[in-house]
Amino acid sequence: MRGSLPGNTIPQETEQIRVKKEITVDSGEMQYLMDRSFVCPVCRKRFNSKCINSSKAVLEGWDTDLRPRYKGVDVSKYRVAECLSCGYAGIARYDSKIGEREKAAYKESGLKTLGGSDGNEGLRSYRGAYDGYRAALRCYIINNANHSVRGLTALYTAWLLRGWREALEKEGETVEVRDAMSLLAETRLLRYALYNFKKSELEESDALSDIGENVLNYIIAALSYMQGEYQVAEAYLRGILNSTEVRLRLFKQAKELQRLIRTSRRLDRQERLDRQEKDKKKIHGRAKA
Ligand SMILES: [Zn+2]
Repeated sequence: MRGSLPGNTIPQETEQIRVKKEITVDSGEMQYLMDRSFVCPVCRKRFNSKCINSSKAVLEGWDTDLRPRYKGVDVSKYRVAECLSCGYAGIARYDSKIGEREKAAYKESGLKTLGGSDGNEGLRSYRGAYDGYRAALRCYIINNANHSVRGLTALYTAWLLRGWREALEKEGETVEVRDAMSLLAETRLLRYALYNFKKSELEESDALSDIGENVLNYIIAALSYMQGEYQVAEAYLRGILNSTEVRLRLFKQAKELQRLIRTSRRLDRQERLDRQEKDKKKIHGRAKA
C-alpha cells in the first residue's frame, strides 16, 4: 500500500489546525436527533448525548465509501460521546467494550479531552464535533484499542471533514490545503482508516462483527479505489459480488464501484497514451530541428 501510516499516529495531530469560518448550527437539526443516555466506561458517571433518531431522519443516499447523507442533518457530527466528568471520548456504540487495562491506561495518561458539544442543547458545530473525534482517536491510541475501532473512528472523522468542507463550499468559502477540513486532511484519514482495516482483517478475528464482513470488505474496496489501488479494490469486490449472503443494496453499490474502477482504468490508460504521443511528437520535433 502506498504511504501507509504507522498505527500510532493520528493524521494531522501534530499540525496546526486551521479552521475557516464556522458554519452556524441549524436548530432545525434538533428534530432529527434524540437523547441517549450513556454510562462512562471509565468513571461510570451517567451522561446524555445527542444521536441520530433513525425514525425521524431521512436518508437521501450514500457516497462511494458508504458515508450516509441525511436530509437536514450531518450524522457524522453525532457519533462521538464524551464524558464531561473525566473527559473520556469514544464512538458511542463501542464504548461499552473497553476493559480494565484500557481504563487504567486512560486514567494514567492524565488526558482531559476537549469536549465536542457546544453547549447549545447538545447540538454540535463541525469544529466541536472535530474536537470530539480527535479526542476519541487519542483515547483509542492510549487504550491501544483494536485496529477495527481505530479504522472506523478515522473513517467517521474523514466523513465529518467531507461534510464540513461541503457545507463551507455551499456558503461560497474556499477550502485551502492547510485547512482542517481540506481534502488532503480527509485523504490522510482515509489512508489511516484503510491501514487499520487491513491490519484488523489480518489480526483480529471477530472485529466489527456488527458491521459484517461484506460491508467491511466493501469499505476496504472503496478506500483502495479512492487511493488509486484498483487491483486491491477489485479483489475485495470480487468477494462481495460472489457472496451468496450479500444484501441487494450492497451488491448494487459494489456493481457501481466496479463500474467506477473500470472508467478510471480507461481514463488512466488514455492519459498515458496521450502523454506518450505528446512525448513522441516532442522527440520527433527535436530530431527534425
Ligand atoms: Zn467519565
